[in-house]
Amino acid sequence: MPNVARPPWEHAGSAPNAVALRAGDEVWTYAQLRDASAAFGGELRALGARPGDRVLLVAPTVAEFVVAYLAGQLLGTVVITMNTMATEPEIDYVVEDSGASLLIAWHEASLAASRVAEERDLSFRVLAPGAGARSGTPVDEPVERNLDDTAVLLYTSGTTGRPKGVELTVGNLLDTARTFVEQLDLTSQDRFGTALPLFHVFGQAVCLNTVLTTGASMSLLSPFEPVAMLEMIRRDRLTTVAGVPTMWNAMLHASGDFGPADFADLRLASSGGASLPGEVITAFSDRFGCTILEGYGLTESSGAATYNAPDRQQRIGSVGIPLPGTDVEIRNLDGEPVPAGDVGEVFLRGPSVMKGYWNRPDATAADLAGGWLRTGDLGRVDEDGYLYIVDRAKDLIIRGGYNVYPREVEEVLYEHPDIVEVAVLGVADDAYGEEVAAVVATRSGAPIDEDELRTWAKERLSPYKVPHRFRFVDTLPKGPSGKILKRAIDRDALENPAS
Ligand code: AMP
Repeated sequence: MPNVARPPWEHAGSAPNAVALRAGDEVWTYAQLRDASAAFGGELRALGARPGDRVLLVAPTVAEFVVAYLAGQLLGTVVITMNTMATEPEIDYVVEDSGASLLIAWHEASLAASRVAEERDLSFRVLAPGAGARSGTPVDEPVERNLDDTAVLLYTSGTTGRPKGVELTVGNLLDTARTFVEQLDLTSQDRFGTALPLFHVFGQAVCLNTVLTTGASMSLLSPFEPVAMLEMIRRDRLTTVAGVPTMWNAMLHASGDFGPADFADLRLASSGGASLPGEVITAFSDRFGCTILEGYGLTESSGAATYNAPDRQQRIGSVGIPLPGTDVEIRNLDGEPVPAGDVGEVFLRGPSVMKGYWNRPDATAADLAGGWLRTGDLGRVDEDGYLYIVDRAKDLIIRGGYNVYPREVEEVLYEHPDIVEVAVLGVADDAYGEEVAAVVATRSGAPIDEDELRTWAKERLSPYKVPHRFRFVDTLPKGPSGKILKRAIDRDALENPAS
């Protein structure tokens, strides 16, 4: 049975000397990637990794991420991927929740993971440039797996609560890869490029697995920087690229002599992860002569759900039509489907929808009743089946492409002895799309030093989750049940801090 435990490129019968990865000045052929993954897999096996074990990988968008990720897949382990900005408590939470037995961390961001491994007496391996070059016994035969075996666990809060592990199966990943190969019309001749984080579903399931499945090449950039991204498009004569809205916006405003000539080979630019303003699509096309096509998905749907496929008329403002095999339904508060044009909560069903939340039968039952995934997003579908995302029912803040869950930040601020009430919300920001802001009521009624609060948060959270703006109030607005009413908070004062 075909599955991702078999290396993705086996599906395409890729030529061994074809380029698989480009990262900076480095070039990895498919043969080199295959050998390095097998060798690194051998090292992980020597560290005790067995099929079904949870292996945590903390690494940026570099070739060695791919080596370690594929090594874990070859061994039939369940790979958990996390942001290199994750703090020790965040990693510890995931390790405890998932029961991970082996931690792998990129050499420049390995301190927090190494401490957790030491504290918990778990196996630990630093991932460094040239991973997989060591001698040892490589993995010669990938572990066979079934389509419904869990391949990866990606942590997200979903519609509520603390981060949960989304279980994506071998079949989910295969289906997503196949669907996008078809939608993007990818072939082994394509040159794909991205700066998306590979730990996130968009970079991992939609881009990495998809591209390797075709035998195309993949140019990687880390960290994202607009001029560097434009230079990569020019240097590697990229044919397809993918990114989140803040990346397109930053490229649009980047200085330099970049123009349509650099995009001559680029036939497809895909955006997802957050809503892409129509002005950006138009201005991008004016400057670079290239249209950005928008899609929509969640971690729970392997990143896939809807897309403005290139062979269709793009409807600006819409996230496109359901991908083949995926059903979209808009329901009202009573769970009844609503007529076309009406706004309601978006539900999804299809082969890319997760198996469930790891060890969370209640959350799985709540968000996956009857095989329909509750997205927590509000949207509408027009007469022709195009989906429009209207708002997020959940309070997720997306800051520069990274998810920030207000509740997690609120919990940290609530731990501060002088804070009585707090609401964390996203406010519009030119640079990041959204910025994290906190409205705080203090015990004394007097403001706390903002720098002190930021330091407090920084010690406990990744930098991008730390609130940048604070407002101090006597009390927060509440609804009849006593719950803080975020929508009644005056956001204007947070968006214009000087006023
Ligand atoms: P994640 O699980 O990190 O992929 O986040 C999924 C959430 O991102 C969705 O539930 C949406 O709220 C949001 N999202 C993804 N794509 C889009 C889009 N094209 N437009 C608006 N929101 C989006």
